[in-house]
Amino acid sequence: PVLDFARYGSLPKRTPVKRPLRIALLTREPNNYSSKRLMEAAEARGHVIEAIDTARCYMQIGTLDPEVHYDGKALARFDAVIPRIGASITDYGMAVLRQFSNTGAFCLNGAGAIGRSRDKLLAHQLLARAKIDMPITAFAHSPKDTKDLISLAGGAPVVVKLLSSTQGKGVVLAETRKAAESLVDAFRGLEANFLVQEFVAEAAGADTRCFVIGNKVVGGMKRQAAKGEFRSNLHRGGTASAVKLTPAEREVARDAAKVLGLRVAGVDLLHTEDGPKVLEVNSSPGLQGIESASGKDIAGMIIEHLERQVRPLAKVRETT
Ligand code: ADP
Ligand code: GLU
Repeated sequence: PVLDFARYGSLPKRTPVKRPLRIALLTREPNNYSSKRLMEAAEARGHVIEAIDTARCYMQIGTLDPEVHYDGKALARFDAVIPRIGASITDYGMAVLRQFSNTGAFCLNGAGAIGRSRDKLLAHQLLARAKIDMPITAFAHSPKDTKDLISLAGGAPVVVKLLSSTQGKGVVLAETRKAAESLVDAFRGLEANFLVQEFVAEAAGADTRCFVIGNKVVGGMKRQAAKGEFRSNLHRGGTASAVKLTPAEREVARDAAKVLGLRVAGVDLLHTEDGPKVLEVNSSPGLQGIESASGKDIAGMIIEHLERQVRPLAKVRETT
């Protein structure tokens, strides 16, 4: 929280809450698995939770009494917001979240942290600065020297990633230098933002998702790519299974989430002989894959974490 507060100025003091919480689930998809599970878990614990469509929120900036408007009127105050902001609406979603924060609501992941994880170049730079292992990665805005850029990533085979894409769609393997050069030239021609990355062949089409809640790794799953495919995304036909995480994996996942300032994160790792390498840190990790693979009530753990963040002050004050 320190990072966000410092960046956006001082926020109203949150009043300690002892009653059931009023929670906003900020999402454009109230009916997907993750949304349903979070609503179920909150209601099971006696809280009031409402799905709020990020895109339908609007607001006046600069009032003394900040509000979020929705369908023609101001929303009642929320104690907490669970942001599930999709990549297509990151910037507006962050603005909405900042406004909720200004109303005094506790945001499970802050706007600043979401922004840091969504901006892949920024995320890479912050993780590198914190000495967190990642595959060797190179990027350029308008690389005149395609060959050198590919060499910077360690030479072919390389993975070229379109920065605007998700679910593995914009992730391409170039097995030869020639293929890599034409790919990079094509992306340049499209003025697309991309990065070039060392292909970690020893990962063998598998990656490990660590689910982090509040500086603890609460679950993990291994995703294995379909035959003939190196991308392990479930959307690309990958399959998820339970996995026992190593201490090194737990540590790097915790560190990666912490560096970006995320309280809840899905950290994807590639397994290598030199230890785990961080592939990406997701600020709205899906619950379906991880809950079915790990058999754990991750949604319940998220709500309990939220309770501990919003309520402990009440207890402290009570006893002093
Ligand atoms: P997205 O954000 O679209 O899911 P990722 O960067 O996570 O894109 O890549 C998708 C998948 O491709 C990963 O889950 C992993 O299985 C595989 N992959 C990505 N980068 C590499 C790499 N450098 N080496 C080997 N496999 C990779
Ligand atoms: N959102 C999915 C889940 O964890 C994972 C998506 C993917 O990796 O393709 O349920």
